[in-house]
Amino acid sequence: MANFTIAEMVQSNTADRLKISNNPPASVRVHLTETITLLESIRAEWEEYCAEHSLGTPAIRITSGYRSPALNKAVGGVKNSAHVAGYAADLQPVNGKQVEFEKFFATVFSRMGYGFDQIIIEKSKTARWVHVGYKRPEDGKQRHQCFSLKV
Ligand SMILES: [Zn+2]
Repeated sequence: MANFTIAEMVQSNTADRLKISNNPPASVRVHLTETITLLESIRAEWEEYCAEHSLGTPAIRITSGYRSPALNKAVGGVKNSAHVAGYAADLQPVNGKQVEFEKFFATVFSRMGYGFDQIIIEKSKTARWVHVGYKRPEDGKQRHQCFSLKV
């Protein structure tokens, strides 16, 4: 079942607001398709986890997917961000169970044997989200790292 689309990965409120183009080149579209495959696996496992723990809807919101170089700069992203390569997505659970969502990544999903580069449980002063990187942009490596970060 398809839950995620390239359109969802490309949509950006910040890009709209600042009138920044966020149209990925063909090579990046291929990466986005790969990344979506991982997101579908996450969605399927999260759905089971939600059912087991009575957490409500397993829908997942992409708060940031692809970022053109200009958009990445505007949001203060790191220079070699996997978002620019189409290899990353920032996620939040639609049911609002953020703590459970983070626990799911740290103790369940990251240990299931799926290929990924980095799962980063991120927190700023105003928001929390989970960054999922599918491959490292420089060399396509999957380092299988999972950690927390205050940004
Ligand atoms: Zn991210």
